This record gives sequence, structure tokens and C-alpha cells, in this order.
Amino acid sequence: MARIVMKFGGTSMAGSERIRRVAGIVKRQQEAGHEVAVVVSAMSGETDRLVNFCREANALYDPAEYDVVVASGEQVTSGLLALTLQAIGCKARSWQGWQVPIKTDDAHAKARIEEIDADALIASMAAGEIAVIPGFQGVSPEGRVTTLGRGGSDTSAVAVAAAVKADRCDIYTDVDGVYTTDPRIVAKARKLPLVTYEEMLELASVGSKVLQTRSVSLAMKEKVRVQVLSSFIDETAPAADTIPGTLIVSDEELEGSDMERQLITGIAADKNEAKVTLTRVPDRPGAVASIFAPLAESNINVDMIIQNVAKDKGETDVTFTVPQSDLARAQAMLEERKDSIGYYRLIADGNVAKISVVGVGMRSHAGVASTMFKTLADRGINIIAISTSEIKVSVLIDTDETELAVRVLHTAYGLDAAA
Ligand code: ADP
Ligand code: ASP
Ligand code: MG
Repeated sequence: MARIVMKFGGTSMAGSERIRRVAGIVKRQQEAGHEVAVVVSAMSGETDRLVNFCREANALYDPAEYDVVVASGEQVTSGLLALTLQAIGCKARSWQGWQVPIKTDDAHAKARIEEIDADALIASMAAGEIAVIPGFQGVSPEGRVTTLGRGGSDTSAVAVAAAVKADRCDIYTDVDGVYTTDPRIVAKARKLPLVTYEEMLELASVGSKVLQTRSVSLAMKEKVRVQVLSSFIDETAPAADTIPGTLIVSDEELEGSDMERQLITGIAADKNEAKVTLTRVPDRPGAVASIFAPLAESNINVDMIIQNVAKDKGETDVTFTVPQSDLARAQAMLEERKDSIGYYRLIADGNVAKISVVGVGMRSHAGVASTMFKTLADRGINIIAISTSEIKVSVLIDTDETELAVRVLHTAYGLDAAA
């Protein structure tokens, strides 16, 4: 017997028929003798719809009230799945975030899970009840509803798996594993049987939305075994001891496997970044700090940063990227501080995409970055900014060239599946 946490994403929960299919998969897992908890997303499109209502109600919305609205999508699907499971003869009970409780901090709209009190959950699972938990939701220290940021149900699932000490956390989605790049963009993408936590963390953080970044860092920290697999399967649910999807593993487990690996594991594209340039910033100590300190205080993540060497008059341009969703706030904040920072103009550009290549093989091989630059240059694709880490190289390019860049890089690094 194993204890399994199963998570179903938005596409898998979209409508009564699909929820019935999910209920069937869950039931078969329980019938195989396993203890099961299920974490569900809202129906696909629902969270976007709810976010739009918030925007229409108040462009500069209060994140605490936004959470009240957007958390409702998962409340609906958790109740519907519990009802559907009951209809096919299972004992099932839904648990809202505040009921578990999934305790978070009070950073509304991007709250972090601090603690899950899992005793009641474990007792109910042991009694043969299927616990259905809405993903994405938590409860703040003040007792208010919080949400975990877009894609946060993955993190809910991993956190629940860690709290109930599950043998595995299966993330069921609309693709059958993690691929070398988004299989919806590149038809020749290949499915990876194994990916390391670190690689998955980098891939997620640079735009592979198949798993939310926080879910991967949590899985790495708590040593949760995570599998990504498809919910669009027929009658037979995969047995708990088989791995039809992609398993996220430690470096040691990867080395112990006999899998042949390419230098690059995967390529990701992120169109959700925006570029901000401040021109003629005074070239003196403290100038850059006065730009980034207020952004950090407002929880706005700055990613790539370029500062040119001052040319003359002791002035320089500073360019950086922020998430599109934070651009308006970042812009407002910097415009308010125009005089104290002392820049001349603020130029914002949302028409950029970040393309990243990721692989642990980079640690021991040179030339990954130069292959990237040459491949893009051969296609006339201009690089606006570059950033690197130990196992990743990212470039910022014009958004219109995203698909082309990903395709040519996929080929250049030898990742294309055989025709
Ligand atoms: P869910 O609703 O199940 O959470 P998401 O839409 O969040 O699903 O994530 C699954 C999607 O992630 C896939 O449909 C695919 O388009 C995208 N994706 C991006 N990069 C990858 C990748 N490297 N491997 C697999 N899927 C990827
Ligand atoms: N429903 C939320 C979203 O769309 C959370 C999730 O699906 O993971 O972002
Ligand atoms: Mg998702």
C-alpha cells in the first residue's frame, strides 16, 4: 500500500464529463489499495475569468479581496469532484484551505505556505475517505482566504504530499510528462523520463509552466517524489508502482540511471516579462539601490539587469525586466521617484520574451552560450539582454521571434525527436 497525492489541473477538471474521468482515475487508485488525497485546480479559463472581474471592479484592486474572488474557482471543483466520487460509490470529503488548514503568510495573491496541520487529513485517509482539497488556497494568520500565485495548485499538492508524508505526488495534466520544450510549440519536442529537481526548478522559473516554480523548490526541500503525467488516459489508471510520466529526481538518482543525456535538458520561453529602461541615471553610489529598493519592498521580482558603463557626464542607462503583471505598479513607483532617483526618461516595453536553455551538463561543458548566440545570430534574431546561472543561459529577444528562436535552438542542441 502506498499513500499518493494526486493533483489534477484545469484542463483535466473542465466540465462534468472530465471530472467523471478524474473520479474514475482516483477511484481505481484507491481500489488498488492506496490511501489517496486529491488536489484540484479550477476549471481551465475560470481563474482568468475571475481575475478579469477583479480588474473590471477596480483596476488597482486590493489583493486580499482578489483572493476572495479567485479562490472560488477551486472551491467549486473540489465540491464537484467530491460529489462525483460519491456518485460512483466512494467515500469522499472536500476540505477548503481554511479547513485543513493550509496556513500561509499574509502576502495576498502570492502567499507562501508556512504550515499544514495534516492530522485530520491523515486520519480521514486512513479511514478510507478520499480527501479532496482545492489547490491554490490557503488561510492567512488573520484567518482570511489567501491564494498562492498563478499555477499554485502544484505547490498545494506538493505541500500536502510533504505534510501527509506521501510516497509520491502525481501531477496529472494535459501532457504526458515534461518535454525538452513546450510540446505545443515544438512538435519535435521529446518527453524526458527523468529530470533533476534543479533542472526542473530552472525550467519552471524561466517559463515552463508545466509546474509552478515554488512547487519544485518545495519538493526539492522536502524530498517529495513528484511525477508529471497525463490525465487523458483510458480505462486503466497507471499502477502506483509504475512511472508512465516524468519523474523528478535528485542528481544522484539521475547519475545512477543509465539514461543517455544531451548537454541541454530543456528550453523554455517566457512572454510574461516586460523591459524597463531608465535613461541617464546618475553614475554614483546609491543610484541603482534607489531604483531597486522600492521594487523589492513591493515584492516585485526583478530578473535581468543591465547597466552600461557611463559614457560621459557621469550618466548611464539602466535596463531591467519585471513580470508583465507588475509592470504598471513598477512604472508608477519609479515615476513617483523620478526626481530622487534622478533619471531622465522611463521607457517600458512589454514586447519581449526570455528564452532560456537549461541543463546540468553545462557545469562540465563549455560553449553552450556561444552556440546559443551563434544560432540566434544566424537567424537574424537580436539579443537585448543576457543572464546566466550555473546550469542556465537566458536571453531577452523580441516577442515576435519567440517560436522561431525556440525551434532553432532545439535543433541546434540536438534535442529534436527522430522523425
Ligand atoms: P494544468 O492546468 O494541468 O496545471 P498547465 O497549463 O499549467 O496545466 O501546464 C501544462 C502545460 O505546460 C502544457 O499544456 C504545455 O503546453 C506547457 N509546457 C510548457 N513547457 C513544457 C514542457 N517543457 N514540458 C511539458 N509541458 C510544457
Ligand atoms: N487556478 C489557478 C490558476 O489558474 C491555480 C492552478 O490552476 O494551479 O492559476
Ligand atoms: Mg498549472
